[in-house]
Amino acid sequence: MMKSIGYYNGRIEPLEQLMIPALDRAVYFGDGCYEAVYLINGVLFGLEEHLDRFYNSCRLLKLPFHLDRQALKAELQKVIEAVEPDFAGMLYWQASRGTDYRNHAFPPPEVKPNLLMFARPAALDPIHPKPLKLISLEDTRFLHCNIKTINLLPSVMANQEAHARGCDEAVLHRGSRVTEGSHSNILILQNGTLRTPPADELILPGITRKHLLALAGEHGIPTSEQPFSMVELMNADEILVTSSGALCSPVCEVDGIPVGGKDPDTLAVLQKAYADKFLRETKQI
Ligand code: PMP
Repeated sequence: MMKSIGYYNGRIEPLEQLMIPALDRAVYFGDGCYEAVYLINGVLFGLEEHLDRFYNSCRLLKLPFHLDRQALKAELQKVIEAVEPDFAGMLYWQASRGTDYRNHAFPPPEVKPNLLMFARPAALDPIHPKPLKLISLEDTRFLHCNIKTINLLPSVMANQEAHARGCDEAVLHRGSRVTEGSHSNILILQNGTLRTPPADELILPGITRKHLLALAGEHGIPTSEQPFSMVELMNADEILVTSSGALCSPVCEVDGIPVGGKDPDTLAVLQKAYADKFLRETKQI
């Protein structure tokens, strides 16, 4: 059994033993932001893009994260060195707005942010991703979904509802407009075009989404970042769910209705391109 590692402000311990202060603002306000990156062969896949998004979340939350890019990479490296050499799984890190008494206004400037990390083993099969079953739910989240905050209660509720109904993920929509999954982005293939909602404040700008759009371009598959409806989703030739923890999975069912399966060739091109990129950049081929 591969071990899980925890880290808090420079201290490294087995994850299950890691303790953090009750007055960390993450505990009572969820006042922080995070990233989750796949780690294999000592490589954090897509790290530079995750760092860009992390510092953007800090900026939007006015969270004065004290480590610059190089210093944060050095801390990530300490966790990479603490896991077993054959570790494969997610490396999660979060910054919170420091430790202080509960007070809505920000703490004084001498209070430094806290950095928490976990490395947990998780399998990822880029070549044969399991087709997913989704449920659809109204998106009741706030209007800052572009910020990767640790406040995830609506996403937790939506994902739990999917699991309670024997499904893998919830596709969220505002009225008829599709936004994203509870912890993933949603893309469709429609008449040979790869479509996904625009990266506005209604969705998280997913790294996997971005990679897939770029790969489509490289393979001559047209792309579009314009809103689409639930009706278009249900009638799409293929539906794709993307995230760093599962890469790019096709969808076989939404609300118990069979979907997709009408453009397997284009789907296969995208999946192969993604698997190749992942395996190459993580030194697996
Ligand atoms: N949207 C939401 C709400 C998410 O939580 C995630 C997972 N981090 C994604 C999209 C997918 O983003 P990424 O491809 O960067 O993991």
